[in-house]
Amino acid sequence: MKVNHIEHIGIAVRSLDEMIPYYEKLLGTSCYAIEEVKDQHVKTAFFKVGETKIELLESTDPEGPIGKFIEKKGEGIHHIAFATDDADKALKEAGEMGLQLIDPVSRKGAEGLNIGFLHPKSTHGVLTEICSVC
Ligand code: ZN
Repeated sequence: MKVNHIEHIGIAVRSLDEMIPYYEKLLGTSCYAIEEVKDQHVKTAFFKVGETKIELLESTDPEGPIGKFIEKKGEGIHHIAFATDDADKALKEAGEMGLQLIDPVSRKGAEGLNIGFLHPKSTHGVLTEICSVC
C-alpha cells in the first residue's frame, strides 16, 4: 500500500460545542466545516493543520460507534486516516496483507471522501481509515 500523507486524526468528544472553541484556540485556526454523517451516527467538525486535518467526532446516538467508544474508553483519539490515491485498491492490498477489513469496499464518508476502515484487532489496536478523493 502507498500512503501519501495523514489525511486526518479522528478524536471522539462528548460535545462539539465545548471542544470547538478549545481546538480553535489550541490550533490557532477556525473550524472550517461541521457535517453530520447519518449512517455513522456522528457529527463531525474539521480543522486544518497543514495537509492533515483534525476531525472531532460527536455521537448522535449512544448505540452508534462513537457513542459506544466514549462509553467504553472515554474521550480521546479514535482513529487515524491515511490518504491514498485509490481507497479501493488500498483496501484490497490491506486484505492481501491479512488485515481484517471493516469495509471491504469503500463508502462515502465526511467531505465526500471514499473511505474504508481496517479492524483494530488486526492493526494492533489502531483503528485505521483509508481515504481517497476518488
Ligand atoms: Zn475519519
